[in-house]
Amino acid sequence: MLSKGRPVRVRIAPSPTGPIHIGNMHTALFNWLFARKHGGSFVLRFEDTDRERSRPEYERLIFNEMRWLGLDWDEGPDIGGPYGPYRQTERLDLYAEFARRLLGSGHVYPCYCTPEELEAERREAQKAGRAYKYSGRCRRLDEAGRRAMEAEGRRPALRFAVPEGRVVVIDDLIRGRIEYPTDAISDFIIVRPNGMPLYNFAVVVDDITMRISHVIRGEGHISNTPVQCLIYEALGAERPLFGHLGHILLPTREKMAKREGTAYVGNYRDEGYLPEAIVNFMSLLGWTPPDGREFLTLEEIIEEFSLDRVTKAPSVFDPEKLTWMNANYIRRMEVEELARRCLPFLEKAGLVAEGLDRLPAGAEPPEPPEGMVRSDFARVVWVVSLEQERIETLAQIVEATEFFFRRRIEPDEKASKMLRTPGVGKALARVLEAYRAHGDWRPEPLEALGRRLVEELGLSARKLFQPIRAAVTGRVASPPLFDTMAALGRDLCLERLAAAVEFAREAGEETV
Ligand code: GLU
Repeated sequence: MLSKGRPVRVRIAPSPTGPIHIGNMHTALFNWLFARKHGGSFVLRFEDTDRERSRPEYERLIFNEMRWLGLDWDEGPDIGGPYGPYRQTERLDLYAEFARRLLGSGHVYPCYCTPEELEAERREAQKAGRAYKYSGRCRRLDEAGRRAMEAEGRRPALRFAVPEGRVVVIDDLIRGRIEYPTDAISDFIIVRPNGMPLYNFAVVVDDITMRISHVIRGEGHISNTPVQCLIYEALGAERPLFGHLGHILLPTREKMAKREGTAYVGNYRDEGYLPEAIVNFMSLLGWTPPDGREFLTLEEIIEEFSLDRVTKAPSVFDPEKLTWMNANYIRRMEVEELARRCLPFLEKAGLVAEGLDRLPAGAEPPEPPEGMVRSDFARVVWVVSLEQERIETLAQIVEATEFFFRRRIEPDEKASKMLRTPGVGKALARVLEAYRAHGDWRPEPLEALGRRLVEELGLSARKLFQPIRAAVTGRVASPPLFDTMAALGRDLCLERLAAAVEFAREAGEETV
């Protein structure tokens, strides 16, 4: 699997023309794993020759999202390295030099055909029902013919003279042998008339000069590989080994379209997926560890990873499975760490002041945002611990816990209905009175009092505790009632019980 003693050097070469897509990140992950497994180098470089669509902010997004997932690179546009620069637009001289070499050795020729002439050829092929292949008109031009073209003011593209009657053989690390007849390959352009190199040429120059040993990329590139092999051969350069990963499909078996919102890595971060869950999940798209385990740490994945266990079959990106996996990671996480990760979501929702986890020990917590009660980090940890079993993403912490942070709550529809049930207002008035006289706000004493009230009022526990829950949380479902009341604290519980009694009274019920 390792190329004859060459050090392992792999790369990804995204175009910074949009937010990074799961498919690209999956390729990045597999390259990164391969590098880390073999003690090699992982190179990040940008294919930014599409100047209109390439943007620095997309470069930054790629950096951020890779870092967020923990995929660090050894060489790249931001940190440099021995084989830079790492942006194609900064390497144009290099491509020009390699193009001159190929021109000198006769592997490429100037092509003067205009887009209109090529279009006419294409239409003719279509009419005749043939697959289109460039006619090779300019390949046959002699020196005088070329001069005549230049005299017309035409500027040439450079086209590669594909050898006839050969078969390119590729021993793909994932798919096995692929054979490709050169007769199916049209003479292809390597440099446009404006001097811009095309993908297949630039990528080969980059891979040669950056000493890439293994090219691991998506199956969509298979048809480019024979073309690239011809360029290696023409330059007399050793090819890297190639491995093409299978497509990633949605559960509907559609391809994860590049522009689809669900396919962006950043969306998963914004929705509160954990990077370790995403990496674990993505590692299982097309790869299986020897023991078939589903939960693996990054270290374990590196340890077990090998291309031998990567399948060429398409794999399915099932968002529900990712959510299930994420929920598992949340449940297993140490609660303080979980609270720390939930904080940005709570801050953004305006439920807590910023930076509670960075306060020096013993410091007074800052003013809460408007309409919220004051919380310190310990309180956030407590509240989060009550929901740890229930939330599937970090973003869900907001909806799950906001009643702990808001000064006032509105009972939701079901809670309102429960509070308006005949007899409830009266019972809650007694509950309020009893808890007002009670001081110990730990869960057990709160529960003991609750049970005494059940006896006294002659109700079932459920019939009493559900209205109390509706009163103090505004909902009919919450974490265990007395843990919830303890975390809410005495003041909020009493305020809310009083408000619920009032609510029931307004709803027309006698409370006294
Ligand atoms: N920019 C190409 C891509 O992201 C690079 C392909 C390659 O790895 O050769 O698909």
